This record gives sequence, structure tokens and C-alpha cells, in this order.
Amino acid sequence: MRSRRSLLLGPARLCLRLLLLLGYRRRCPPLLRNLVLRWRYGKVCLRSLLYNSFGGSDTVIDSAFEPVYWLVDNVIRWFGVVFVALVIVLTSSIVAIAYLCVLPLILHTYSVPRICWHFVYSHWNLILIVFHYYQAITTPPGYPPQAKTDLATVSICKKCIYPKPARTHHCSICNRCVLKMDHHCPWLNNCVGHYNHRYFFSFCFFMTLGCVYCSFGSWDMFREAYAALEKMKQLNRNKLQVAANQTYHQTPPPAFSFRERMTHKSLVYLWFLCSSVALALGALTVWHAVLISRGETSIERHINKKERHRLSSKGKVFRNPYNYGCLDNWKVFLGVNTRRHWLTRVLLPSSHLPYGNGMTWDPPPYVITPPDSVLAV
Ligand SMILES: [Zn+2]
Ligand SMILES: [Zn+2]
Repeated sequence: MRSRRSLLLGPARLCLRLLLLLGYRRRCPPLLRNLVLRWRYGKVCLRSLLYNSFGGSDTVIDSAFEPVYWLVDNVIRWFGVVFVALVIVLTSSIVAIAYLCVLPLILHTYSVPRICWHFVYSHWNLILIVFHYYQAITTPPGYPPQAKTDLATVSICKKCIYPKPARTHHCSICNRCVLKMDHHCPWLNNCVGHYNHRYFFSFCFFMTLGCVYCSFGSWDMFREAYAALEKMKQLNRNKLQVAANQTYHQTPPPAFSFRERMTHKSLVYLWFLCSSVALALGALTVWHAVLISRGETSIERHINKKERHRLSSKGKVFRNPYNYGCLDNWKVFLGVNTRRHWLTRVLLPSSHLPYGNGMTWDPPPYVITPPDSVLAV
């Protein structure tokens, strides 16, 4: 293939050189000379535009997919508000069903201590969900300074053309660099970074907990409601059959009232929605819990994996410099310095700031043995 191309290009180049030579010796008309010069100029322009010392198949694929990335980024940016509204509407619908349909049912059937337990637990869970979601969407993730500083930086962002501290990455949706960036969350319409990572994870955790609680708590009611809806469908089918046969001479069977029908449908909706969210969000929460236990963000997981393979091929062992051990990773992540903090900062709403400024990554004083490590960027 290459030899065939060179067979075609060789004579063409020779012709052009001859023309150029003739042009310089002023033996050809000025139009032709001008044409040759323009050809040379165009060739230099094209080469200077396409030249890239790091170029390769990845660069070509990235360039080809650039319009797709642009479209996805813009769709996520503009639909972020819709996703946030969806979370608020769906959560509010579950709370409304709990108050309007579930509460009257359990008030008649449950014992007083059981009602008290459900009342306290559900409201504690709801307060934590609302608090962490509000904080996650309103807290900026943290951005590196765009002025001259003495901070140690590891690279320059190609998009912002500003120094990039360790663990900082560029978000193409926010169009700026984010400190300790984890990912851009469309459900928050915000980037998850240094200052709101804890709020994001706590929201996922307490939302999963709430959905599991609703699914298990409403299981008996869901079964009864589902059976009642099936019965209702059967009654409607019978009615239609009777009407079709024109043998309807007796009193019609008792039908469900509008309120009963709505209650049954709401309970089925509640159970299906909570179970689906518990499964999907539960899997995401477990994944993030594993990452936090390892002292990694979602982006660092990919970078560290590549680095691990690269170093292992050279017979070296990669160690994540931000991994202080499972328990200490959780303490740093949750901002827990004392035992009391597990209650006041984890199980109760707390707006304390994370350790550090997100630009320098010295281990906190309560982390006993910072590991020897190969620097990960
Ligand atoms: Zn950037
Ligand atoms: Zn972002």
C-alpha cells in the first residue's frame, strides 16, 4: 500500500520540483510560479496544523469524537437543572405518599412503640437526605487559584492554561479545573470535588438507606395493594364480559372507591421506585465506598490502574500516596478526629470543612504512618 502511494507521489513531487526550478529561473509564466509558491505555502500550513509530537491514533480518535463530546457536555450542562428537579419531585412524591397513604394505615395497625420508632427513624433519615443533597448542589467543589501562587503544581491544564495542583482535573462540563475532582454529577448539576465530596457520598448513602427502609417497610402494604389492584382489574374484566353478554341483571359487585384506588396505586409506585433506586444507587454507593477505602477518586482509579501496570512491567510496586489505610481514609474523608465526631459529624447534619485546602496533600496529624510512595498525579 505504502509502495503504491510512493509510486504515485514520487512523479508528482518530481514534477513540482521541476516546475519550482523553472519558476526560480524565470523560464515559466508568473501564474505558474505563483501557483507553485501557493502550493508550498499550503503544504507548510497543513503540516504545521497537523504536527503533534504526541500525535497518534488516540489523538485522531479524540479529534474525530470531539463533536460528540461537545454535544454530551452541553446536554449534561443544560439538562442538569432538569435532573435536579427530577430528584426533588420524585423524593417529594415518596414523602407525600408516606404521609398521606402509609401513615394513616400504620396508625391503625402498629403498636405505639413501633410507630414512635418509625416516626423518629424516617424523619432522621429524611433530614439527612435533604441536608446532604442541598449541601452537595450548593457547595462549590473547590477551584485552584488562577493567579500567581507559590503552590506546588504538577502540570499545566491544557484548557485553562493555568497550573494544576495534585489531584486537580479539568471538568469539560464546568469548563474549569476542579480540586480533587471525582466526577461531574448530572443529578447534582455540580462537580464532585474536594469541598462537596463528603456531601455527595453521604447523600447517596442516606438516600440508599431511606429507599431500603421504604422497600422493606412497605413490603406487606405493597403486596396487599398489588393484590387489590389485580382484583380490581379482574372485576373490570368481568364487568365488561357481562356487559358484552347482556346478562347483567344482578346488583354489580362492590368496586373500590377513588381514594382506595389511588392509595393502592401510590403504594405500588412507592415500592417500585424505592426498590429500583435502592438497587441502582446502592451499587453506586458501594463503588464509591470502595474507592474511599482505597484513598482514590473515580478519576484516580483509572490513573492509578495505568500507573500500577506501567510500574509492574518494570518490576516496581505502585503505592497511592493518598492512601493512609482503610480506617484513616474514612476518618480523613468524613473529617472525624475524635470518637464524638462519628455522632456529630456523620450521623447528624454537619457542615464542617474537609481537611486541607485541596491543593497540598500533607497527611493529617492523626494519620500515624504515611506510606512511602511513588507520586501519583
Ligand atoms: Zn482546566
Ligand atoms: Zn463539572
